[in-house]
Amino acid sequence: MNPVLYKFHVRDLLDVDEDYIWNLNRGKMELTFDDSEVVIADVCDVQISWYYWALAEAYRDLQITRKLFLDGRTFTDDLHRKMMFEAISPTIGNPDFDKEDVWLLSYRDIYNRIYNAVVTRLVEYIGSTTSLDALELMCDEEISAANNAVTDDLGTIDHAYETISSVVRRKYHRNPIVRAIVNKTVKEPQILQSIGPRGRITDIDSVIFRKPIKRGFAMGFRDIIAFAKESRSAAKALLFNKDPVAIAEYFNRKLQLVCNTITKLHKGDCGTKQYQQMTIPEGKEGDQMLGGLAGLFMLDGDRLVEIKEDMQHLRGKTISLRTTLCCKHLRNQGVCETCYGMTSYGIPYDSNPGHISCTSLCKEISQLIISTKHLDFIVHKFLVLLRGNDATYLRVIPGQNEFLYLSEKVKPDHVVLRILADEAKNLVQVKYITDVNNIEVTNLSSLSTAEFYVRDASSGLIDGVTLDMVRSSTKASLSIDLLKHLQVTGWETVNNWLYINLANWEHDKPLFVYPLKHESMAEFGKRVEVFIRSTTKSDGDDDELADVHASSNAAKLTSYNDADRALYDGYRLISSKIKGIHIGHIATILAASRVTSARQGDWFIPNDLFNGEFKSHDEIIRHRSLSVQMLYGWQQQTYNDLSCYLQHKRPYNPMDGLIYIPPQS
Ligand SMILES: [Zn+2]
Repeated sequence: MNPVLYKFHVRDLLDVDEDYIWNLNRGKMELTFDDSEVVIADVCDVQISWYYWALAEAYRDLQITRKLFLDGRTFTDDLHRKMMFEAISPTIGNPDFDKEDVWLLSYRDIYNRIYNAVVTRLVEYIGSTTSLDALELMCDEEISAANNAVTDDLGTIDHAYETISSVVRRKYHRNPIVRAIVNKTVKEPQILQSIGPRGRITDIDSVIFRKPIKRGFAMGFRDIIAFAKESRSAAKALLFNKDPVAIAEYFNRKLQLVCNTITKLHKGDCGTKQYQQMTIPEGKEGDQMLGGLAGLFMLDGDRLVEIKEDMQHLRGKTISLRTTLCCKHLRNQGVCETCYGMTSYGIPYDSNPGHISCTSLCKEISQLIISTKHLDFIVHKFLVLLRGNDATYLRVIPGQNEFLYLSEKVKPDHVVLRILADEAKNLVQVKYITDVNNIEVTNLSSLSTAEFYVRDASSGLIDGVTLDMVRSSTKASLSIDLLKHLQVTGWETVNNWLYINLANWEHDKPLFVYPLKHESMAEFGKRVEVFIRSTTKSDGDDDELADVHASSNAAKLTSYNDADRALYDGYRLISSKIKGIHIGHIATILAASRVTSARQGDWFIPNDLFNGEFKSHDEIIRHRSLSVQMLYGWQQQTYNDLSCYLQHKRPYNPMDGLIYIPPQS
């Protein structure tokens, strides 16, 4: 039994100074909380928890309970954030506390002081890692067996990663590297690439090398090919740190110019009766979405309740949601705290909620572009699955995840494959290329559908089946083998269709391939920009975006009439790469992108969820307050543009004060 060195009530410790706390002897202490709960505590836990009681020192009515106590838990970033929230949560929504005072106290007296204490007073406890720690993990029987079994087959790499991830947690929780993973001070994928195989690598043009690097950083690379491939990661980081960051930040700026039209945050609830309908998916995706919805309000019977991250019973249900898009204040360029959600607590008085929403989104995009070297971690599990009618003509071979083969039940001699000419515009190139092995298959074809027919005796085509060729939003391409086949047999073009005769086709050759192309964060950022700003090529400003616009059928807000669908799709697009983006911010950005009626020259934001239209941001800038256009660009064109003088219903903009308009005499 450890002797109890001290007996304290938490209130006794409030008035002592920092040195007193740190001069206590290490050992056990009997500690009584405000709610009379008594615990036997480690003095060390008390020394750290003590900082979180600073608010109770300033506001004597606040209670200090066991929630504000470390209680043997490992002190991590996450736990720090949780305890900060516990400390301030009794003050949220309570009129006796001014939120900006609470923030000042929590930053000055909790955050700063605990940071200083941790880095200066705990120096003797700082750990380090050595190569022996890595060796300990690599020499583990299960891990080395999984590493030795790695081949070019991506399944074996995934297996190695899964093995490492589970073995280290099960057997080696004292290993400093494992502690760093568990406490999230390093990202797990980075450790997996060291202890396990490096895996697949993306080139600077986003093409993924077909063969992975089978050794990891800790094992060391042994051949020049691996070094050459790995060098691409650094090349990519260099490439992405310049222009793409500038482009992403410029997008941020352009977005602010439109979103800052929502200028005010109104106290309380506007009382709107309009709600957005949002269906939360089942399973893990549903959990992720709940994270994005947390803090917004939904209708439960006739009451509004705050959505919490852990409301898993909402998965699979459609909820009636309050967002900025519903708010009655929109027409007057404001949004109420209830429609904006709990995020409104975190916004300083008099700040512009539209501006805050777009910087919250864009900072994530910029950050991800900068950290691209570390985070471009390719998920190997691209698996082509057969659906519906697919199996009539197609089959998959285990381990050949990116290929589709002709079904062995089909006799190829009478089979005709029909594809859209538009989806294979450059196919004619195969006639002039000697070695198709070096060809980039996506340049020749990119198929959304393929049709199979059987040619009967009278030479008519029967038994047609249309197959959807899009998997995980990737289009299929004709395989190298099929291109070689076409070099010999050619094809027939009739109207908008290409007919490919599969006579003499061998079953062991793949027909279609899903090209291994990895979308970089920079490309992703552009796609988000095209979606939100609904950029059109004719506006001429965004040359970089023209590619995205032309190459993919990137979705745009202006193609949506329904704000619910626009919000859902916008969230899906953004959350495909950015985890934890708040749906309330997306809704605010969408709200600013709507106008009441362009035809009637009313460019105010509608305060009606069901009437109003999305407009491209370039049009919005031109037809709302012109100070923004004058600061943005194309001043001369705007000056000469007649339509600019015909709009009378224009909202003001915070930038208006920057433009001086002389009084008319
Ligand atoms: Zn409202």
